[in-house]
Amino acid sequence: MEIIYQSTRNKEERATASEAILKGLASDGGLFVPTAIPAFSVPFDQMAKMDYCQVAFEVMKLFLTDFTEEELKYCIESAYDKKFDTPQIAPLREANGVYYLELFHGATIAFKDMALSILPHLLTTAAKKNHVGEEIVILTATSGDTGKAALAGFAEVPGTRIIVFYPKDGVSPIQEKQMVTQRGKNTTVVGIHGNFDDAQNGVKAIFNNRELAAAMKEKGFRFSSANSINIGRLVPQIVYYVYAYTRLLAAGTLGDGECMNVVVPTGNFGNILAAYYAKCAGLPIGKLICASNDNKVLYDFFQSGTYDKNREFILTTSPSMDILISSNLERLIYKIAGEDAEKNAELMGALARTGKYQITEEMRGKLSDFYGGFATTEQTARTIKELYEKTGYIIDTHTAVATSVYNAYREETKDQTVTVIASTASPYKFTRSVMTAIDPRYEPMGDFELVDELSRLSETKVPGAIEEIRSAEVIHKRVCDRDQMQATVEEILGM
Ligand SMILES: *Cc1c(COP(=O)(O)O)cnc(C)c1O
Repeated sequence: MEIIYQSTRNKEERATASEAILKGLASDGGLFVPTAIPAFSVPFDQMAKMDYCQVAFEVMKLFLTDFTEEELKYCIESAYDKKFDTPQIAPLREANGVYYLELFHGATIAFKDMALSILPHLLTTAAKKNHVGEEIVILTATSGDTGKAALAGFAEVPGTRIIVFYPKDGVSPIQEKQMVTQRGKNTTVVGIHGNFDDAQNGVKAIFNNRELAAAMKEKGFRFSSANSINIGRLVPQIVYYVYAYTRLLAAGTLGDGECMNVVVPTGNFGNILAAYYAKCAGLPIGKLICASNDNKVLYDFFQSGTYDKNREFILTTSPSMDILISSNLERLIYKIAGEDAEKNAELMGALARTGKYQITEEMRGKLSDFYGGFATTEQTARTIKELYEKTGYIIDTHTAVATSVYNAYREETKDQTVTVIASTASPYKFTRSVMTAIDPRYEPMGDFELVDELSRLSETKVPGAIEEIRSAEVIHKRVCDRDQMQATVEEILGM
């Protein structure tokens, strides 16, 4: 079955998978969604015998139907290789009765690597297929993890350049150091005076500027996005839910056809949407538990049916979830609106004008697969400490938000379903918050002293991604105001 993509705001705007990957965002500002979600064709007990790359192929070929088998295998094998520190790519680890799906074994030790190590290959393959001659300029706004993962993925990839904007005071010191030390002639990193939403809005405005696009074309450039709205990121994220399920099946933890729950620490709603698509495609998933931090827009949305971003933006210890506009939620809204692009466009219009929208009772009725919860910064810290003291396993702050929400869910519902928690970052990426959660006496220590202390406590080796920034030189020092983003891009491209 051929899968075609269309904009969530206009059913006339259609694209093949490779075109949608190239464009990133639809030209009307909507997101590309498959017009039909395919069903898994290979039985799960058969996939249980496959390795990560093989599972990835079986899943991705259903969604990216205009890629040849050869192209897709090339992309998958170029992505999930020795850059990951385990051949399992996404191992499961049991602790305190739940299964942590460790999505942080790639080059930058956060889950963004799962998609961003393959996106450059999907994108350059898509460019070739569509006879795109221009140099592709990747423009990305990051709350911390996307930036580095995108930089690592695109650095030195021929025919591409990458420009990353991040909130100057809104990422962890290690996240910032990872980005500003990035090598590669085609990479630029810019801090902005503003928060993540400012950065994301700035990037969206640049994308939607037609005059600029025309001027770019003249100069031999074209924009594309590595943000989680790109279906080239969404589709690879479906894979690891299938992989996790089939590992649990192989281990006998799950019986044939038995459901698992998934818990996802959520920001832009990309990761959990991938789990939802996996469920729609036939993966036996029970509840999709959406965990937020103090920026609990999504929790409130699941409670009340009103999405309202008009509130204070709170800086937390889980910065990759400090988001008030969860872009990928639009794909869910579109789905529960009965795939009605006009209705969705109306709601998104309201969001742009007033910062909020309310869905109908009928739409709310279609959200029963989801459970929303949130954890405060204090609960998050307590969760890290408790799990460590009970099991010796040390999780990062984002994963701790999910764990805290899951503990509350389990308490409230007594649901005994086998549960997988998406573990989205290595604790080494958020060392200070993690270590001071375990014991406040770590407070005065330096960042790299804390790294060594974490290694000792957790009995794990310091990841290569951390070792390499210990002594790396700062290469990117550019900072700009949030209204200067477009001018900065033009300057970088020599326009
Ligand atoms: C990006 C990120 C998230 C949020 O994922 P979304 O797909 O944006 O919901 C959670 N945790 C970490 C560590 C991340 O980097």
